Amino acid sequence: MPSEFALIDRYFRRPTAHTRLGVGDDGALVRATPGTELVISTDMLVSGTHFLPDTDPEALGWKVLAVNVSDMAAMGAEPRWALLAAALPAATESWIERFARGFFDCAAAFGVDVVGGDTTRGPRNFCVTILGEVPEGRALLRSGGRAGDDVWVSGAPGLAALGLAHLQGGCPLSEAVRDECLTALHRPRPRVALGLALRGIASAAIDVSDGLLGDLGHILAASGVGAELDLAAMPAAALAAAPDPDLGRHCLLAGGDDYELLFTAPADRSPLIDALSGQLGLPLTRIGSLVADHPGESIVRDRDGRPVTLGRTGYDHFG
Ligand code: ADP
Ligand code: MG
Repeated sequence: MPSEFALIDRYFRRPTAHTRLGVGDDGALVRATPGTELVISTDMLVSGTHFLPDTDPEALGWKVLAVNVSDMAAMGAEPRWALLAAALPAATESWIERFARGFFDCAAAFGVDVVGGDTTRGPRNFCVTILGEVPEGRALLRSGGRAGDDVWVSGAPGLAALGLAHLQGGCPLSEAVRDECLTALHRPRPRVALGLALRGIASAAIDVSDGLLGDLGHILAASGVGAELDLAAMPAAALAAAPDPDLGRHCLLAGGDDYELLFTAPADRSPLIDALSGQLGLPLTRIGSLVADHPGESIVRDRDGRPVTLGRTGYDHFG
């Protein structure tokens, strides 16, 4: 095993594209674009809690950065710089090499310069800090939703949770569906282009990391409104793929790890949003609307208008 410094040099020091001084000094130097605000966020992934201990290292490297890039997407920000703090057990070098490959694949895919970090020995744990840029005053916040706005979601939420249920056993999936679900779980595609395009269109946005209803609850709380959702209008992929309807519904409404964007917009924006869906080649589905009644609460109705009940609606580490 090489020394800490040799490891950093070999695997985590890469050329940068828009950074004055990256890895190698006591701090990095970056120049913010005039007229922009910095958006800063951090996310930690812990073995056993956020990923299975035997997860493929390359997929894990991708995901560790992707979940942070997703936070930039949800803010309508352009991801720019990231720092990686890694605790690693006495791992083999090939594990680190594969992890770094996935991590830098994601950095390249989204134009992120990796400008620093920290490397220590310990139980496997990764913490990424990311910085993005957004033109002053134009970030997408959770607090901008208004009664009457439509609620939209991108992609096919629920597939990642179905993939996880499959890996944990007891959820048989056909081969084609299984691949799609495992890709959603292991290689989430943060919706950066969508987040950028939604500036000036969406009234509020969040990325779905903990479950659709749970994450929508954050928009509702911050915006002081409720939501009425239509189960029949929702993207049906998870419902169609699940071996039983209860599991499908649970994955769709409460499954985490999809990193799709959930956003709200005034009803007169829907033609723009439909056009955007075509431009991006990404399904954007209107699933309901915000209401002044029952603030903080979502009511999901089935085809007959009856409320659908679910046990848990989002992941809470201390719940
Ligand atoms: P310090 O002693 O100041 O904490 P380190 O020796 O930890 O510095 O790190 C040396 C350089 O390598 C710093 O620029 C730091 O940001 C960078 N670095 C350390 N670990 C990583 C990593 N896993 N990924 C990217 N950069 C890293
Ligand atoms: Mg250090």
